[in-house]
Amino acid sequence: MMKISKEGLYVHIPFCNKICSYCNFSKLLYSNKFSSKYLIALKNELKKYNNYTFKSIYIGGGTPSSLSYEEEEFLFNVLLPYQDNSFITIEINPDIEEEKIKLFKKYNVKRVSIGVQSFNKNILSLINRDSDFDKIKHLILLLNKYDIYDINLDLMYGFKNQTLNELEEDLNKFTSLKIKHISTYCLQLEESTLLNNMHYELPDDEIIRKQYDFIVNFLKKKGFFRYEVSNFAKDNYQSKHNLIYWNNHEYGGVGLNASSYINNIRRTNTKNLSSYLEGNYQDYEEILSLDDQEFYFIMLGLRKEKGISLSEYKKLFKKDFLICYKDKLDDLLKNKDLILDNDNLYVNEDKMFILDYFLRKLLF
Ligand code: SF4
Repeated sequence: MMKISKEGLYVHIPFCNKICSYCNFSKLLYSNKFSSKYLIALKNELKKYNNYTFKSIYIGGGTPSSLSYEEEEFLFNVLLPYQDNSFITIEINPDIEEEKIKLFKKYNVKRVSIGVQSFNKNILSLINRDSDFDKIKHLILLLNKYDIYDINLDLMYGFKNQTLNELEEDLNKFTSLKIKHISTYCLQLEESTLLNNMHYELPDDEIIRKQYDFIVNFLKKKGFFRYEVSNFAKDNYQSKHNLIYWNNHEYGGVGLNASSYINNIRRTNTKNLSSYLEGNYQDYEEILSLDDQEFYFIMLGLRKEKGISLSEYKKLFKKDFLICYKDKLDDLLKNKDLILDNDNLYVNEDKMFILDYFLRKLLF
């Protein structure tokens, strides 16, 4: 039987070896009591996609590298029927063993994302993570040994009392490594995280803005260009998988609290591990009207440096963007908040930090 080719599949592995103080993802400490049962449940859930193959498969978490060697191999085998020369990405933590990296080569993993966040001792102690510069350097060499060069590091900023000098030290270290991509995350205080329970205070918006601008300018000088509000790529190594989301294209999702968007239905899985293990995967679904689809197309598309294509908008929604949004657009264009360049409408690169403000003006 011919399978239908879909853009992307997200696979959630909720286990971690340590819990970070800022984290509100669906995760739990690794325990082999649950991990093997979880992988069996995941295999069963995947059956809903038996008619599909996916161009991109993203294994995220949690920490997928917290699985044992055997579990990781099991997972890669479970995913084989859903592949057709697929581009596979996996998230790892710095403490991964070489044996598991060998598996990446065997199962054709093309991209690796490493949760570094910072090399600053005070920040690492605050967020309860370990990242050692020499270890990361060695890990990158190991990945290269197994032909993985498309490497992302996550960087966090937005900490109270974090100086621009400290941020510069981190950025210098990050960009001295042989990597192609940096994803930045501004610290947020989410409910039921340790930081929130500690009543940690975030810095003022003005300080965060200075940090963001500093990052953008620093990375540009080092050849990492922003292509999405928080993502920077060198040599055009943009995240193929995340572009599926920002382009509002279809994707499947399996695992605890994973989401999918296929045939204009957004489905979200349960956060409850016991329910998931019993086979009650889905929590809720939302059927998107044409208005909803238009909202997401604009909201996600304007996150990208090149913004949205007006001809694509017309093809999808059978109307002219410039006419539909004329009233709201006039001011935004006059103030050079948004820029119209032939077929593309995008946010002024100097004003990307306040993207949400423009989205509110345009969409509400
Ligand atoms: S941030 Fe990542 S590694 Fe840390 S607890 Fe959350 S999922 Fe686990």
